Amino acid sequence: MKRIISVLTAAAALCCLCSCNTVKEADSFVMNTGSSDNLDLQTKAVKHNVKAEKNEVSEKEKISIFDCKINAESFMYDGVKEVPDVTISYKNKKLTEKQDYIISAENSSAEIGNYKLTISMTGDYEGTQKLEYSIYPQNTEFTSYSSKVNEITVRWEEQKKADGYEIEYSVNKDLSDAVSVEKGSNNTSLELKDLPQNSIYYFRIRTFIKNNGKKIFSDWSEPFKTAVKKIEIKDGVTYIDGMIIVNKTYSLPRDFGSGEDPQALEAFYQMQNDAAADGLSLYIISGFRSYNTQSFTYNYFCNDRGKEQADRVSARPGHSEHQTGLAFDINSTSYAFTDTPEAKWLAENCNRYGFILRYPEGKEDITGYAYESWHIRFLGTEKAQEIAKSGLTVEEYLGITSKYDE
Ligand SMILES: [Zn+2]
Repeated sequence: MKRIISVLTAAAALCCLCSCNTVKEADSFVMNTGSSDNLDLQTKAVKHNVKAEKNEVSEKEKISIFDCKINAESFMYDGVKEVPDVTISYKNKKLTEKQDYIISAENSSAEIGNYKLTISMTGDYEGTQKLEYSIYPQNTEFTSYSSKVNEITVRWEEQKKADGYEIEYSVNKDLSDAVSVEKGSNNTSLELKDLPQNSIYYFRIRTFIKNNGKKIFSDWSEPFKTAVKKIEIKDGVTYIDGMIIVNKTYSLPRDFGSGEDPQALEAFYQMQNDAAADGLSLYIISGFRSYNTQSFTYNYFCNDRGKEQADRVSARPGHSEHQTGLAFDINSTSYAFTDTPEAKWLAENCNRYGFILRYPEGKEDITGYAYESWHIRFLGTEKAQEIAKSGLTVEEYLGITSKYDE
């Protein structure tokens, strides 16, 4: 009370010496401090205010982690990185690690799996938060495919860190109603059999690893489209994958064909010239054979050695490749030809000119015919080389049979 009065006195004195404003302030101050009770209240109130103000400052500066924006993305396995990149920002300001927050990882590892991070705020920020993240398996992509008339095989790259692969396939481009297939880590291909003729399928694949019984998946691969080999029948002639196919299963109409195919002949002459340059003589001893000619040929064999043996070496009429004009017998139709330099040269080089040896050794069960080192079939260089490279017969390559109905 004394102190207040003295302040008041000083104020009044100041008033006398200088300005009226000071006097007015001094007057109002006096009015507020009319009694000792009032003073005590006033003092308490001031103290309280200061405390409250301090509290307010504290709450503003210690910003909760929940007011911050946290971005932490899971990443793909690379065998090196252990913890995801974390960015924390508050009101568009990127916070600084160690100064504003500290990240600690529980059981972190560069291996595929699910992990947890703890973010502890520090400095002007407070609070902690746990973040879960995963290290995903590497994505897998399809590398190749092959198809037959009722089959598709897709192949993919092997992932070293994988427990398996999930493949989805569907006839729908958006992969709706997809069938899901799981393959173990030691698989790198999926073979689908008994597919409808001329169907198209879409595929996608992803890798997974198992972590505590739970699968962790990679992203899906790009969708992959492939079709079974197309079968078309035009005027009684069967074309598969664009090639005329004639064997014991597929026949030609009686009136089909009128001579050698000009392209096949041209390719043969080219081959003949090149063989001649190597000192070898190649010539066609049997090219186009009509349905009627084939009837004579086949009947000759039947009379000579019986039907069963005839069927091993001669086609029934309508079933001979010679009727296509695309097949030639070279030099001889005797097994004596097989050991000649010409036969060897033919086997090694005919693919380059668009021909294949149609009835290879040891494939009688598949082609329907005994080995013929002299019978070549024109397919064009691309197909001939592709089939030769596959090591398959035409029947195996297309997934077709060569068997008479009866
Ligand atoms: Zn032949």
